Amino acid sequence: LKETYYDYVIIGGGTSGLVVANRLSENPAITVAVIESGGSVFNNRNVTNTTTFGLSLGTPIDWAYPGEPQEYALNGTLVYHAGKALGGTSTINGMTYMRPEDVQINAWESLGNTGWNWSSLWPYYKKSERFQTLSSQQKIDGASYNPSYHGFHGSVTVGWSTTLMGGDAHSILNATWQNMGMPYKKDINGGKLRGFTMWPFTLNNSVGGEGIRQDAARAYYYPFAAERPNLHVYLNTTANRLIWANDTTSPGNELTASGIEVMTLNGDIYTILASCEVIISAGSLRSPLLLEHSGVGNPAILKKYSIPVHIILPFVGENLQDQPNTLMGATFNHNTTGYPPYVTSATATDLFGTSTASIEASLRASIPAYAAAVAANSGNAFSVSALTTLFTIQADLIFTQNTPLAEILSVPVAGALEFVTPFWVLFPFARGSVHIQSTNTSSPPAINPNFFQFPFDVSAQAAIGRFVRRAFATAPLSNHVTAELLPGLETVPANASDETWGAWLKSVYGPNYHPVGTAAMMARELGGVVDPELRVYGTTNVRVVDASILPFQVCGHLTSTLYAVAERAAEIIKEKTCSS
Ligand code: FAD
Repeated sequence: LKETYYDYVIIGGGTSGLVVANRLSENPAITVAVIESGGSVFNNRNVTNTTTFGLSLGTPIDWAYPGEPQEYALNGTLVYHAGKALGGTSTINGMTYMRPEDVQINAWESLGNTGWNWSSLWPYYKKSERFQTLSSQQKIDGASYNPSYHGFHGSVTVGWSTTLMGGDAHSILNATWQNMGMPYKKDINGGKLRGFTMWPFTLNNSVGGEGIRQDAARAYYYPFAAERPNLHVYLNTTANRLIWANDTTSPGNELTASGIEVMTLNGDIYTILASCEVIISAGSLRSPLLLEHSGVGNPAILKKYSIPVHIILPFVGENLQDQPNTLMGATFNHNTTGYPPYVTSATATDLFGTSTASIEASLRASIPAYAAAVAANSGNAFSVSALTTLFTIQADLIFTQNTPLAEILSVPVAGALEFVTPFWVLFPFARGSVHIQSTNTSSPPAINPNFFQFPFDVSAQAAIGRFVRRAFATAPLSNHVTAELLPGLETVPANASDETWGAWLKSVYGPNYHPVGTAAMMARELGGVVDPELRVYGTTNVRVVDASILPFQVCGHLTSTLYAVAERAAEIIKEKTCSS
């Protein structure tokens, strides 16, 4: 190792970390180190392949963290996939490029994050994007876009597969969802999602016949690697903890990190120093652990592992939010080929119809009890009043601002006479946690999303199931769906109660792999871990930039927002000059 002193040290060369590394190293006078547990997957066909989702899952580039038994869902256990490679989870994900609803980003500002709203983030969605316009075949296959929504000069190529599903699949689904009252949406990426459309992907369709995955490393690292001697990536190297310059166990003093302790694959431990800042970008499931191993977190948890408490920040690792994903399926009498990116976003009114007002009233009446339950689960790290504020904002988004509550994919399975609909409630009220469970920094996190913690989460997912069932029975799709296989009318009869739906949902769901919120950006008294400049409360020079800072779950899929947030974060970081 020639160099162990850098201006900036970034922990995690993933989706967000590589954006920050790229932007900071644009200045040749600034030195940047990226510490990444995984290796390069530049030529890994499981990664580059654009036609089959999931090839990397369960391979060595997947952390495949074991989850905790789910108390509210039959005590089942889950595996949490997350990328362990340069490029992070963007190397293994579904490549869906789908931005959130505008008002969800506006809600961030109401949590004490001055300057964070849809219009301030909008330029960064565009800055990160290099949109690829449509071929005539892709247009025939149903893809469409609004040019004013897109950026054309950024790093992340976004476009449609060269093997889109053709034939009449698009017209059948579009007509069906319109008959269900869902409008056709020309382009889902403008901040309003309700309706039926086709989504684009983080891929580069001008490379080879099938295109290639555009993960964060392909977008933000490889094109620049050779020409930036000031950017140094340490592969197969894991950060253990931060090292404090003014090492003090007197809580209250602001701490400055002087660097980090890292470990190589063969167990060698050494330090990498940061003269300016340490940026933690290890993802929602790992960034809180780095803070806890460094003495930043809930004293009750740190003391359990005899870790000296440097900063009392009880919300570290709390506030975990993910969505439960369920799949319904049917036999299909229509042959299809190609990739089917068909999505429907539905609001509470779409799902609950004439019951919407009573369901809203019941939810709002339950907020104090939901808040008390989450506060208790967090060992009262969270206060009931803070949670009441957060849950009220969430209820307003769902019922007053009509943010979509459901994402439903319509998937005619190519080459098989089957039709499946993965779906998930976008905004569950369950709150979980991710924490250390050992002093060993290599031990996996204890991940507990508390799926289906509250009746509303079950009712909403059940309502989506009923909605999908109605779609199966709506023309023209009804002419092609021959029999419901999952759940099937024997398991969940017509007019089944939420309880019956819930029993089935809890037995078959999986995580949506959109964990957020575990180092949330919000006012400290509400449960924040980082301030609006993404600086960890109580530190002078430690920031978190990754999915853990999102205070709330968002509609759409995370990477579009993470690229935008990281682009903006890099500009915020650059504004501070370091004295070194
Ligand atoms: P990551 O990209 O996970 O980066 C964290 C990095 O830190 C990793 O490279 C990791 O190896 C490294 N790291 C962790 N701990 C350490 C340590 N101690 N020291 C050094 N390095 C460390 N989103 C979409 O937008 N579209 C999709 O289609 C989609 N599909 C998904 C499918 C799956 C199966 C999964 C798991 C996720 C999916 N997501 C999708 C979600 C999205 O990909 C992630 O939310 C996003 O990539 C997370 O980015 P991040 O920067 O927070 O973390």
